[in-house]
Amino acid sequence: MNQARQFFEIDEKLMELAGQTEQDIRPAFERIESNAFQNQQKVLAAFIHNNVGESCFTSSTGYGYGDVGREKLERVFADAMECEDALLRYNFMCGTHALTVALFGVLRPNDTMLCVTGMPYDTIQSVIGISRQPASGSLKEFGIHFDKVDLLPDGSVDIPAALEKLRSDKSIKMVYIQRSRGYSLRPSLTVEQIEEICGAVRSVRQEVIIMVDNCYGEFVQLTEPCCHGADLMAGSLIKNAGGGIAPTGGYIAGRADLVEMCSYRLSTPGTGREVGCTLGHSREMYMGLFSAPHVVGEALKTAAFCAGLFSRLGYGVTPQPNEIRADIIQSVMLRNPESLIAFCQGIQSGSPVDSMALPEPWDMPGYDNKIIMASGSFTLGSSIELSADAPLREPYAVWMQGGLNYAAGKTGILIAAQRMLDKGLLKL
Ligand SMILES: *Cc1c(COP(=O)(O)O)cnc(C)c1O
Repeated sequence: MNQARQFFEIDEKLMELAGQTEQDIRPAFERIESNAFQNQQKVLAAFIHNNVGESCFTSSTGYGYGDVGREKLERVFADAMECEDALLRYNFMCGTHALTVALFGVLRPNDTMLCVTGMPYDTIQSVIGISRQPASGSLKEFGIHFDKVDLLPDGSVDIPAALEKLRSDKSIKMVYIQRSRGYSLRPSLTVEQIEEICGAVRSVRQEVIIMVDNCYGEFVQLTEPCCHGADLMAGSLIKNAGGGIAPTGGYIAGRADLVEMCSYRLSTPGTGREVGCTLGHSREMYMGLFSAPHVVGEALKTAAFCAGLFSRLGYGVTPQPNEIRADIIQSVMLRNPESLIAFCQGIQSGSPVDSMALPEPWDMPGYDNKIIMASGSFTLGSSIELSADAPLREPYAVWMQGGLNYAAGKTGILIAAQRMLDKGLLKL
């Protein structure tokens, strides 16, 4: 009667390994659950202290003047992020847009932006004006300069080199930190490491603006970068902060004066945050924020399971199964293109939406290698939902992230491993 039923054909030995993996990753699960409990309380407290009520979910049109739900949501979010102020809107079209608004919002001609985490995320390179194919309207076209400090060989930030630049180049107005690894193999930065960078930067230059690309980092640890010395941060709502429910959007959060400057770039100088109708989306935005700590925990468990299973199968993984995590991304070195393709096709076939699609590597504009992507999500491109991406190049690493709930995430990972087994690419 209590016999486990199988709905997918998963090899018995693989199921056995899955069981052992869950024993291996108990320390990670304990930490993830404890963090989710703390972060959930923090978010719930923000809802309660701000008296969120049903009237917050009403819809506005046109200019959206005096939309109480929109204004209160930004207050709730600022409290949840433990910072002075925030903009949180579906009008941000993606994370890159939120980051762009923040950069153009606070930088002025002849200022220099100094990135201390090496080359920034691909899409931000176009915004800065350093992409291979120059994009019109970049910061560079507006006379805003860019400089960077490369990461040390172990992937950590070269703080002495950053301080040297800060001492010698007085045009540096912003220090920019990318918290997540993005699609590189460097480690993600913990908030403690961000604090160390901020402290060092401040010891040389008090007034410089420290901005963090917080994509994939929200609610992973107990506090956010702005609690550790950063002035401004931005991210996407179809990643962590939208809880898998927000259908689109992004946020900017941090020091009140800087958030206000950003509001004039988001809408117009003069109108700022006072405009922006909500068209009936407020309820989903509130629900997404409310669910975010839990959903991030589920995604982290899925990542730990993937790390545990594939290291048991003999693959290199980063981060390690029980390592402290600073974002939801997991990479697995699959060693050959066939394995990458089989893994991504497996993730796709184990998705609730578009399971019948078969992803193939393709030449994406702006990339040197073919890329394969798996994403069977309710929200197009959402990467808080189970998804995987990989460029077809050495060391044939796949980056997976997301999982709205652990049971489904675990199943997706097992289906991916099974597909590799079916293709003769795995030995059990
Ligand atoms: C996802 C991401 C972004 C923004 O990307 P969008 O696809 O525009 O949402 C920026 N930086 C990092 C590190 C990211 O992971």
